[in-house]
Amino acid sequence: MAPQVLETGALDDLRVRMTGPLVTASDPAYHEARRVFNGMIDRYPAAIAHCQTTDDVVAALACARAHDLPVAVRCGGHSTPGFSTCDDGLVIDVGGLKHVEVDVEAGVATLGAGLTWGELDAATQQHGLAVTGGRVSDTGVTGLTLGSGSGWLERKYGITAQSLLGAEVVLADGSVVRADADGDADLLWALRGGGGNFGVVTELTLKVHPVGPLVLGGMLAYPREHAGELARAYRDYIERAPDEVGGGFAFVSAPPEEFVPEEMRLKPIVGIVWVYVGPIDEGREALAQWKEIAPPALEMVGPMPYVALQQLLDAASPRGIREYFKVDWVPELTDEAIDTMVEQANAAPSPMSQVILEPLGGAMHRIGDADLALRIPDVKWSYFCLGLWPDAADDEANVGWARGLAAAMKPFALSSPYPNFVSPDEGQARLREGYGEEKYARLAELKRRYDPDNVFRLNQNIAPAGYRPVAAS
Ligand SMILES: Cc1cc2nc3c(=O)[nH]c(=O)nc-3n(C[C@H](O)[C@H](O)[C@H](O)COP(=O)(O)OP(=O)(O)OC[C@H]3O[C@@H](n4cnc5c(N)ncnc54)[C@H](O)[C@@H]3O)c2cc1C
Repeated sequence: MAPQVLETGALDDLRVRMTGPLVTASDPAYHEARRVFNGMIDRYPAAIAHCQTTDDVVAALACARAHDLPVAVRCGGHSTPGFSTCDDGLVIDVGGLKHVEVDVEAGVATLGAGLTWGELDAATQQHGLAVTGGRVSDTGVTGLTLGSGSGWLERKYGITAQSLLGAEVVLADGSVVRADADGDADLLWALRGGGGNFGVVTELTLKVHPVGPLVLGGMLAYPREHAGELARAYRDYIERAPDEVGGGFAFVSAPPEEFVPEEMRLKPIVGIVWVYVGPIDEGREALAQWKEIAPPALEMVGPMPYVALQQLLDAASPRGIREYFKVDWVPELTDEAIDTMVEQANAAPSPMSQVILEPLGGAMHRIGDADLALRIPDVKWSYFCLGLWPDAADDEANVGWARGLAAAMKPFALSSPYPNFVSPDEGQARLREGYGEEKYARLAELKRRYDPDNVFRLNQNIAPAGYRPVAAS
């Protein structure tokens, strides 16, 4: 499909007004620039505006509005449904907004909205600070923060949205506003979980917390045939463990590396991701307790830079891979829930796929959701089923597997995850359920105030009756 050609000269005008490059179909960089993380998404925007300043964002948005072009906003490009691109519209890419300042005394980082987690972690770790970040380091900070923010640190420091202190936002009418406790507090509340519905964020202010720079982290590997008994033991261990113990129980395949015993290479295994957010010696004690319960077949845990821990899953999730996920809360990880999960995870058609059982609790529940648009239910677990595969011919089998896993887990699950994990194919009801009626009603009211024309609709859309429908993905 060829991109729609704008014959008005509007894009030429925009190109002149922007500091950053505007990439259109005739540019050699176009095909690279239109790509997003998920290889299943193949769309042809009219242009990609690589913004380097807030003024670039204002100009790009004004151009899109003047010519009624669909607007897709992009940070790291990780949206699974491909919300950060579109056909025939304008992609406003904030990836050029990369500044970071860390106020060590206040424990606050102020950053351009285009950073990836790898970039932010590198900057804050120079001061032994971090905020809960995504588990793949080239995920965008802004997309993840606005729509959830689950990561290895969440039991100790809560999810990312709970650390969001403020933002600079370009609203649908082109005005630039500050959302924080002293500025627009309603907007700040909405950004803590309302996703990309309220404007283009150009700068974030995040609370950062003491972490590392060395943490005791890594992975313990076990043969998959013991998954059921191991999951029961891990559940019983971690539900009583201090908040400093983070990580997860992962159904993955062992890499074909020399350090992996030959009989395990490329075979399905259980990997326990281990992180201790505290002194290394305390971490060793906690690890020794766990290893007494379940001695691993292979131990890859040691003192490591926190930034390396944050890259643990990078190689297994390469950009351009085909991808589909299902995520749900699991209030109680019963034996029956574990047996169902083991059976479903073992049926993954692709050896690249991962399922992670994530233990919750700790700070994320103590901080709570009173000041957030997000709802954080009182549940002990969530699962993250991530189908990854290279060939289009296998789409049906892999998407079908993830959907089948979610259906089998339904009796044990609370089907209302964070908005970032709701796909358009799951319908508006699941999104509303995730927020709960009260929060959704407030979000809808704020959406009417800040974006009455639903300019920002390529997202998990807060779309009350009468709004323009979400564009087909
Ligand atoms: C392999 C993989 C692993 C993941 N792991 C985790 C995880 O560990 N924890 C977790 O919480 N989530 C995880 N996610 C989900 C991830 O948080 C979301 O997909 C998130 O939206 C990605 O952010 P991004 O900036 O990279 O995405 P993009 O695709 O760039 O943006 C997604 C959406 O975010 C909004 N957005 C982005 N930038 C802006 C902006 N500047 N202003 C306003 N809105 C904006 C827009 O609505 C946009 O459509 C994972 C996803 C994948 C594919």
